[in-house]
Formats: sequence, C-alpha cells, structure tokens
Amino acid sequence: MQTQRLRIAIQKKGRLSKECQDLLKRCGVKFNMVGERLVVHAENMPIDLLLVRDDDIPGLIMDGVVDLGVIGENELEEVALERAARNEPNDYVKLRRLDFGGCRLSIAINKDDEYQGPQDLQGKRIATTYPQLVKRYMDQQGVKFSTCMLNGSVEVAPRAGLADAICDLVSTGATLEANGLKEAEVILRSKAVLIQCTRALSDEKQALINRLLTRMQGVIQAKE
Ligand code: ATP
Ligand code: ZN
Repeated sequence: MQTQRLRIAIQKKGRLSKECQDLLKRCGVKFNMVGERLVVHAENMPIDLLLVRDDDIPGLIMDGVVDLGVIGENELEEVALERAARNEPNDYVKLRRLDFGGCRLSIAINKDDEYQGPQDLQGKRIATTYPQLVKRYMDQQGVKFSTCMLNGSVEVAPRAGLADAICDLVSTGATLEANGLKEAEVILRSKAVLIQCTRALSDEKQALINRLLTRMQGVIQAKE
C-alpha cells in the first residue's frame, strides 16, 4: 500500500529514539510526539513517522511496508540473515551510517577462563539474542558450538548455568564486569543506519529523501 507521504519507521522507545528524533528535527522535520501514537504526521513536510519496536524495522523495510527506517546494524544484519535463511525478502539500501547508537556485539566468557582465540570456544554453548550473527562468525572461524537463545538477561546465562559464554551488545563493558564476564571477541561494530526499501518510489518521494540526506550530511558534519 503506497501512500503519498514518505513513511519513516523509527524506534518508539529505547536507545535510538531520542537521537533519531533529534536528527529529524535538525533536518527541519517538525513534529510533535504526543501520547502513545503509532503514526505521527510531520507538520511541515509530507512525512509520517511510524513509532515501533526496533526489532520490527528491518522487516518493515524489507517487505516494502515503509520507505525509510533507522536501525542498529546489529539488528538489521541479524534480521537479514534470518530472512535469507527462510527465503524471505531481505533487501534494503543503506543510505548512510549515522553518528549514534554505537556499540559492539561481542562474545564474552567467564573472567577466569583462559582465552587465546576463537578455538577456545570449541564445543561451548553461547547464549545470545543474535544467533545468526554468532553462527556466521563461528562458521567463518570454523569453530563448532551450540546456542542458547535468550531475548533478555543474556549476561546472567553463564552464572545461571544455562551457557558457557554469551554474545551480546557491549558499550562500556560495565555490565559484563558486573556479571563476572570478560570480552573475548568483538564480532561486529555497529552504529545506527538509515535504510530505504528497494521498491521504486515516486519522484516526489525520492526527491524528498535526497533533500533529507543532504540536510543530514550538513547536520552530522556540523557536529563533528
Ligand atoms: P525495543 O523495545 O524497541 O525492542 P530494545 O530493548 O530491543 O528496544 P534498545 O536497548 O533500545 O533495544 O537498543 C536499541 C539499539 O541501540 C541496539 O540494537 C543497538 O543497535 C543500540 N545500542 C547502542 N548501545 C547499546 C548498548 N550499550 N546496549 C544495547 N544496545 C545498544
Ligand atoms: Zn528490540
């Protein structure tokens, strides 16, 4: 269902939402977040913001339901791999990397465990929310392992006896430290990115996207 208005999916609430809204505002998009609305209409441009869980954003783009989205590369790549494995549409266009949402996806082990390299993970059970990215990395390394899929509390899995290691997002490392873990391997360095669906858009929409991108370039450069 194509609409005249450009649809942009952004995280409703979480680590990406404030900076994402700030970026759009600095690019001149005027809007007012009120209540628990799913769709917010921009006041001065033909743009609708769709406020959703970040997990839903890659699929909305890959299914061509929305035109643009802002999402962490970690989530984007995990969903793309998952959809590829299921033979579902998994294409998107990365328009630009943004200057927020920086984190790394790392494998962490008990702080007293010996670690020389990926071979030391042989046969281990790794708790994670990112099974596809872990599998890609471990396959590249030629290391056999098993997973324990958790959508939350990944960092307590080793202590709880559910897994030998974890693979989770890290920014400062304080959470790992607090759980008696240490970072062993960084498997992905991630930032928020602006993505577009691959379906052809109207000339008007594409022109608006190009205008937004130009402004974004200026806004991001001005901050550097
Ligand atoms: P939602 O309710 O939308 O599903 P969530 O709990 O999955 O939210 P957040 O914790 O808000 O997600 O994180 C969103 C994204 O922010 C992550 O996928 C990642 O790209 C980025 N991020 C940046 N720093 C961190 C960090 N220290 N820990 C987790 N995510 C981070
Ligand atoms: Zn999420």
